[in-house]
Amino acid sequence: MLNATHNPALRSWVASANVAGCDFPIQNLPFGVFSHGGSAPHGGIAIGDQVLCLQDALAAGVFTGLAAAAAEAACEPTLNKLMAMGNLPASALRAQVSALLAEGATPRPDLLVPMSEATMHAPSAPGAFTDFLTSIHHMWRGIKSRDPNGQLPPAFKHLPIAYNSRASSLVASPQPFVRPNGIRQNADGSVVFGPTVSQDFELELGFFVGAGNRLGQPINVDAAEDHIFGLCLLNDWSTRDVQRFESAPLGPFLGKSAMTSVSPWVITLEALAPFRIPGPVRPEGDPAALPHFVGAKDQAAGGLDLGMEVLYQTPAMRAGGQAPAQVVNTNFRHMYWTLAQMLTHHASNGCNLRPGDVMASGTCSGPTDDSRACMSEITRGKDAITLPNGEQRLWLEDGDEVIFRARAEKAGAVGIGFGECRGVVLPAVAWPAA
Ligand code: MN
Repeated sequence: MLNATHNPALRSWVASANVAGCDFPIQNLPFGVFSHGGSAPHGGIAIGDQVLCLQDALAAGVFTGLAAAAAEAACEPTLNKLMAMGNLPASALRAQVSALLAEGATPRPDLLVPMSEATMHAPSAPGAFTDFLTSIHHMWRGIKSRDPNGQLPPAFKHLPIAYNSRASSLVASPQPFVRPNGIRQNADGSVVFGPTVSQDFELELGFFVGAGNRLGQPINVDAAEDHIFGLCLLNDWSTRDVQRFESAPLGPFLGKSAMTSVSPWVITLEALAPFRIPGPVRPEGDPAALPHFVGAKDQAAGGLDLGMEVLYQTPAMRAGGQAPAQVVNTNFRHMYWTLAQMLTHHASNGCNLRPGDVMASGTCSGPTDDSRACMSEITRGKDAITLPNGEQRLWLEDGDEVIFRARAEKAGAVGIGFGECRGVVLPAVAWPAA
């Protein structure tokens, strides 16, 4: 549903928010947790190249009613409490923040902190992190690289498949990623422990659970988005050699748990309303989704037209002043399942979801070569990526940095961005001697 906060004519007295192509115009207003000048972490809202400090704004008395209650909840070191309130209070706060920051309102630069002076923190302290695999293109490329005659797992078209990943190691960008030590099996059959030789990234869309559900109480697919507080970019750093060897028969464990990065700004579904599209239409011959996955609202607008990219920069590129090069260019519209279907599936057996829990879509690969959204799809460990300066990469090397970006655009709307999810790879730690 569109409202006054989406009005494309709206501009802000924060000049940087009005620059064409800005990720955080007044139509976006994402939530994040930041600290500045030695403060404890607390909530803020991004506007242009500034952060609106919700603590200072609340103290200044600029919010009323439900919006004030939401701002108060956002003064905690995580957004869990705000997320637990469900989406209505956050929406009330969005409406008042929009009015506060709009051109014509009395400018309040005293409530702003430059982003350059803000340290970003993870938006929530998640009790759980669930990673799905909902791109059929990612699935097929993985299968074909192992076996040209391989078949799709029997469940893929009947349910959004997933595994329980690790919540404790989920961090906010731009925290560096330390190359993990792990156990792999070499081509000659020998088994060794040491720094991985096939570290990968996975470009994913993450989402935060808002209001939870009681243990035993499932969530209807057309009510599922009421339980999604907002979206972020997510890098499911994947240690392929470790993952390959450890995964039979229980699935990935240490190959996925070393660290997960999220972009620090949570883009609300309300902000993304202009960019929704119908849920994916299944190709002729595919089985129909089971009835509990089918809802009128989700079919009509469960999809999302979101351009996503990965930029890559090596130490030599950095030293030579060369800009990061695009290695992935994809769109969330290629996914086989919707966000609502993922959440509904998760709770369908009565499993309780809790505010601040994180879920992710799985690698957002599309059908074309440029939309392969992890290195194992692009190189298969054989066909190196060639960067603009001639350097080649099969996997991530120490000092390499990956930068995820995403942007929603539509004629007649002001485009919004997700900011960045970035991380540089640092060398593995030495194994402790004692
Ligand atoms: Mn993944």
